[in-house]
Amino acid sequence: MIIVQKYGGTSVGTAARIRRVSRRIAATVKQGHKVVVVVSAMGHTTDRLIALAQSINPEPPARELDMLVANGETITAPLVAMCLQGMGIPAISLSGLQAGVRTSAQHSRARIEDIKPDRILETLRDGKVAVVAGFQGVTADFEVTTLGRGGSDTTAVALAAALKADSCEIYTDVDGIFTADPRLVKTARKLTHIQYDEMLELAAVGARVLHPRAVEIGELYGVPIHVRSSFHEGVGTMIVAQVPMEDRQRVRGIAEESNVAKITVVGVPDRPGIAAAIFEPLGAAGISVDVIVQNIGRSRRTDLTFSVAQSDLKAAEKLVKAAAKTIGATRVASAGGIAKLSIVGTGMLGTPGIAGRMFRALADAGINIEMISTSEIRITCLVARDQVEKGVRILHKTFDLDLE
Ligand code: ASP
Ligand code: MG
Repeated sequence: MIIVQKYGGTSVGTAARIRRVSRRIAATVKQGHKVVVVVSAMGHTTDRLIALAQSINPEPPARELDMLVANGETITAPLVAMCLQGMGIPAISLSGLQAGVRTSAQHSRARIEDIKPDRILETLRDGKVAVVAGFQGVTADFEVTTLGRGGSDTTAVALAAALKADSCEIYTDVDGIFTADPRLVKTARKLTHIQYDEMLELAAVGARVLHPRAVEIGELYGVPIHVRSSFHEGVGTMIVAQVPMEDRQRVRGIAEESNVAKITVVGVPDRPGIAAAIFEPLGAAGISVDVIVQNIGRSRRTDLTFSVAQSDLKAAEKLVKAAAKTIGATRVASAGGIAKLSIVGTGMLGTPGIAGRMFRALADAGINIEMISTSEIRITCLVARDQVEKGVRILHKTFDLDLE
């Protein structure tokens, strides 16, 4: 069997932890498997390198920043390989380039376009473990790129797809995917299974265990992803196309995201092209807009409210104010201090009344809903930030997710 194992930054954060991870890899090798390991940068290395860059140039050129931060992973891979060799397990480290990871040219958020795994296959044929630096790749012109924060997950799943691996294990510092953040909800349960689409929805609204691109690639190539703890042997959560029948609860999980602010454009003229005039500059500036609510126009004017990440608020406000002026809107108002509270689950599709139950539970708890957005398998409410934790607990209970 070919097994891909990815170890995150916390799992390889110190020499002692690298030794522990290596013992785990060695045990897998001794079971007779061919093992490909993907590693992240040690601990907070990536954060430190970015901070260092910014202390030298507040706006570091994207190309140089990639040349710099890719080194975090380039350091971990040989350390793991030499540790394995010290334990008598044949292994070599490979950079993204050597592993054949070809990407698009967008620095700091490149996408994997193609993997040529010849070198890895040769390594496995020689009976060695391939320890691959995650997060990094190269363009057709051999420019070094990185895949976006958390991108080592994506390297692992993409390699598993390219190698047609039998299993892809993502080792992390949590036990798996939970019905809610266990730090907020004591009764949260670890899920044995979750579907790709549910995981993507959860990630979009605040659950950040896995890089979303990794889940997308898993879905596209049918790679089951096992998210599990690197600190013990217990099984974690399988991310798959279809959860087993008995697991098809209506709501799979509750997520929250607190980095949210809203902007309202008051008195927008009600004619074609207005929304485009407001949102195009935001898109051009790389600011994503989330929940959008536009009222029905009265006397040829309407109000438009939408949410952005709190960290984007200042920049967004400036652009929206300029746009509001050109289209002749009355004024722009903004507010921080809000949060997204979401329920996610494919079971919602065939079950009427879920939205009503959610809104009733929040109302009974005195939580005001400011905006609502939905997808087929998700309902998100924007609420005051200081009420979101209470909201998570209440919804967890309402949808029968508490521990039996
Ligand atoms: N080291 C990179 C980061 O911190 C990539 C990763 O860990 O997956 O974002
Ligand atoms: Mg990660």
